[in-house]
Amino acid sequence: MNMKRLSILGSTGSIGTQTLDVVSSFSERFDVVGLFGGKNLGLLQDQILKFHPKIVGIKDENDLADLREFMKANNLSFHIVCGEKGLIEFVEFSDIDLLVVAITGTASLLPTLAAIDRKISIGIASKEVLVAAGHIVMKRARENNVSILPIDSEHAALKQCMAGVKSIDDISKLILTASGGPFRERDASTFGSIRLEDALKHPNWEMGKKITIDSATMMNKGLEVLEAHQLFGVPMSKIDVYVHPQSIVHSLVEFVDGNLISQMGLPDMRFPIQYVLMYPEKVASDWPRADLSVLSDLQFFKPDFVKFPLLKLAYDVGEKGGNIPAVYNAANEAAVQLFLEEKISFVDIYKTVYQAVESETYESNPDLDFILNLDSRVKKMILNR
Ligand code: NDP
Repeated sequence: MNMKRLSILGSTGSIGTQTLDVVSSFSERFDVVGLFGGKNLGLLQDQILKFHPKIVGIKDENDLADLREFMKANNLSFHIVCGEKGLIEFVEFSDIDLLVVAITGTASLLPTLAAIDRKISIGIASKEVLVAAGHIVMKRARENNVSILPIDSEHAALKQCMAGVKSIDDISKLILTASGGPFRERDASTFGSIRLEDALKHPNWEMGKKITIDSATMMNKGLEVLEAHQLFGVPMSKIDVYVHPQSIVHSLVEFVDGNLISQMGLPDMRFPIQYVLMYPEKVASDWPRADLSVLSDLQFFKPDFVKFPLLKLAYDVGEKGGNIPAVYNAANEAAVQLFLEEKISFVDIYKTVYQAVESETYESNPDLDFILNLDSRVKKMILNR
């Protein structure tokens, strides 16, 4: 059996570590060529000792000396790259079969495009990349005949539900499910007093901090609606969201003849990650399975757009298209960073994103430079206020 050669952007994060869990369970199938981490050098070093990558990337050049020292002390040899430039060098270093993109935010946009140009398949967790520049990424992928495989559980679910679909016109609705986050039942009049630690408690999923806050505001579902629009080329009007607190049904597709197909399973990211890593093969795994006999109460509700206005805004932004989804995303990335630093309140996240979207001039077909400039300008403007 040929081993699949893969590299991971964001190997020390929630998706990155779970990707390596899946790799460890099928070690005879995967060769880990590259690991790119952020600030968590200790964890990155553990991963290097376990997976022996040929190239290692780190975010901060202040960590370079420590990484070189570690390499020497352990008698290892690997190529080292660093920072934004290093992200591109990382994907250009050697031939691989799959790049797992799991850095929070738009930081992995350029390396994703560089990998597509090298005809490397992409397993994408970083939804922000598709929201900000999906029209560019998907076009480049089509031109290079490269697969963009969604790791996000809802989109991996939709892809599985759509297996065998001949025409996008056969679909009447894509239905994304949402847990509703920690504040689903909380009275909106008390949102002003939400503390950081409240927002970081997700009921069903263990995830990185940014996506956990996005789940609390339901911005995450807004980003996912836009991600689905880009990935599957389905108009915004055909994408629905239902709150499903149990997180067992990961998404559904309704066809024009009324048939509805759903994908189900426990809320465990190793399922969609394995789906992408093995794609198109199905390989037996021993992750715990959903016990249907105890799933007696699966609920579905329409989301509350008044309580969670950033989800409503996603539809307006997606209908407008052009540069506006990139503004929506950039403003949120900056606002969440400020909330995580306890510099703004929970409801200020809403206000910041609304203001940014309302004040930006519309551009119908922004190219890559336009998106990159916009992304950094909007973030700087909010962070330096
Ligand atoms: P984490 O915060 O847990 O991980 C992010 C990873 O990116 C870490 O390895 C971090 O390094 C690294 N990183 C951050 N900034 C940089 C940078 N500028 N350069 C290089 N590396 C960087 O996030 P998640 O894994 O939760 O999420 C990653 C992406 O996947 C997000 O876009 C999220 O929306 C998406 N996603 C996540 C899901 C989940 O269950 N977690 C589910 C579906 C999608 P370090 O920690 O070492 O600083």
